[in-house]
Amino acid sequence: MGRWFLPVFLESGGSLHIDEHVVDASLASPRAVRELIETYGFTFRRSLGQNFLVDGNVLRSIIRTADVRADDTIVEIGAGIGTLTRALASCAKRVLTIEIDTRLHPILHETMTHYDNIELLTLDALALDWRGLWQDYELTQAKVVANLPYYITSPLLVNLLTAELPWESLVVMMQREVAERLVAKPATKAYGTITVLASYYSNVEICQIVPPTVFMPQPAVDSAIVKFTMGRSKVEVVDSALLWQVIKAGFAQRRKTLINSLAATPLGGTIAKSTWRKILLECGIDPQRRAETLTMEDFVVLTNKLSDYYSTV
Ligand code: SAM
Repeated sequence: MGRWFLPVFLESGGSLHIDEHVVDASLASPRAVRELIETYGFTFRRSLGQNFLVDGNVLRSIIRTADVRADDTIVEIGAGIGTLTRALASCAKRVLTIEIDTRLHPILHETMTHYDNIELLTLDALALDWRGLWQDYELTQAKVVANLPYYITSPLLVNLLTAELPWESLVVMMQREVAERLVAKPATKAYGTITVLASYYSNVEICQIVPPTVFMPQPAVDSAIVKFTMGRSKVEVVDSALLWQVIKAGFAQRRKTLINSLAATPLGGTIAKSTWRKILLECGIDPQRRAETLTMEDFVVLTNKLSDYYSTV
């Protein structure tokens, strides 16, 4: 059991002591959020997934799950009014927080004022070049911690994972349904592209299911705190960009057989069906199977076989 899971914290007002650190949870209440948004005349934008955290226990749970330490650099996506940002800043060395909505600036200016270890980046996280961010901000170590805007969850995770950066871990709040897809087993309805990709790059765990009541405004569905502990699969692909293409091609028409699905995509456009059959059989995969029955390791073997094929034509 990690040390953050031990009951070593003493609560006092909006703060929490974890070991020697104090986690600033002062914005995590309906009252604090309501006061700020009323003062600044802020209106929530549903299209930006603006469901702000108003529960101190869930906030502390995120911090504990992420195992935030005093020498950590944290990248947060979606600052909101700064609730999680402040909590992170109170126990990490440095927080880079990315927020798309400039209407939040006046509030963030107030809520971040006592912290000199927060850098606010006004950007669309979906359009961000993550490798460029590591270079520009001279990152050598980083963890991602975020209460994600739900509409970007899957594409953002794909970008974070395929950037192949040395993230230590990603701890993110997301909608429960996506969390369940991430940990789904092969041959189930929930098993899909993101399940395979995530399991190649990390070990994924659902750490906590969170009800809509901990947000303002409340979303329609349950959420989950999910932890990705980074570490490549034991079976490695030669060409990791190709892996994602093969996964997408396999699932492009998930009701079809694997061979038909692969052959119907641009990836298969240049490869004859008979060649696909040969490649699949050489991988020990029955071409009549559906993509949802393949394990991540099957996709890796298939990708490597395809790389071999490409190198010979
Ligand atoms: N971290 C805050 C909290 O826990 O209360 C806010 C979380 S709220 C679920 C998501 C935040 O992400 C919102 O503030 C929203 O404006 C921001 N956001 C939405 N789309 C974004 C994008 N593409 N890039 C960066 N931030 C985005």
